Amino acid sequence: MKIAVLGTGMVGQALAGRLSELGHDVVVGTRDPEATLGRTEPDGMGNPPFSAWHQQHPAIGLAPFADAAAAGELVVNATGGTTTLSVLEQAGADNLAGKVLIDISNPLDFSNGFPPTLFVKDTDSLGEQVQRAFPEVRVVKTLNTLNANLMVRPKDLGAESTVFVSGDDATAKATVTELLQSFGHTDVIDLGDISTARGTEMLLPVWLRLMGALETPFFNFKIVR
Ligand code: NAP
Repeated sequence: MKIAVLGTGMVGQALAGRLSELGHDVVVGTRDPEATLGRTEPDGMGNPPFSAWHQQHPAIGLAPFADAAAAGELVVNATGGTTTLSVLEQAGADNLAGKVLIDISNPLDFSNGFPPTLFVKDTDSLGEQVQRAFPEVRVVKTLNTLNANLMVRPKDLGAESTVFVSGDDATAKATVTELLQSFGHTDVIDLGDISTARGTEMLLPVWLRLMGALETPFFNFKIVR
């Protein structure tokens, strides 16, 4: 499948790399490809620049958000929560219309430092904001509750764990569930319509405290029932 991954951070790299390895035709979306490839310094978290990753993945294209979205039959949103709506505007409603959009973003507000707070919660979610802003897009919220590397290689944990899907379109959720299974996910819980993204987005304060207590991001939720 032709897949556009919007976002050049660690989530975008993890998704794009794994999807390409699984045989998909992948293009990564960014604001300005030349500027993105021109960055040579590690990011704020000490991760190598996108250009270093891209050199090791020459088959993966890099294009402005709009061109990437136009090329993808399915689109992944792997951008920060505070910029998600503006990135999707740049991607273009026409380029997204009718497509499945996997939304991995979290509504984290780092403006007062760490730990971040949620800028939308309880009565709304970022997933719903995206679905409302782009009514012709088939939004599926998923993978926002685990670390980027585990999103695409859950078996690295050495034990079964759980991921969630939320969305209004049953066919879109089935497509996404198949992709999740191709990554190695064996327990995918369909929580219901896109409003259930409130639940998974509000898991982030728990996830962040777990990371602090366990001193590692390599863990995941497992729902025993
Ligand atoms: P990120 O640093 O949050 O986002 C990177 C992307 O955001 C880049 O493509 C960048 O564009 C774009 N961007 C930054 N500022 C922008 C602006 N002002 N206008 C337009 N675009 C802008 O990436 P990430 O750490 O990979 O996280 C992606 C999302 O996944 C986040 O919502 C995060 O909460 C969620 N998530 C992350 C993890 C994890 O393990 N990191 C786990 C679960 C969920 P350029 O390419 O042009 O620089």
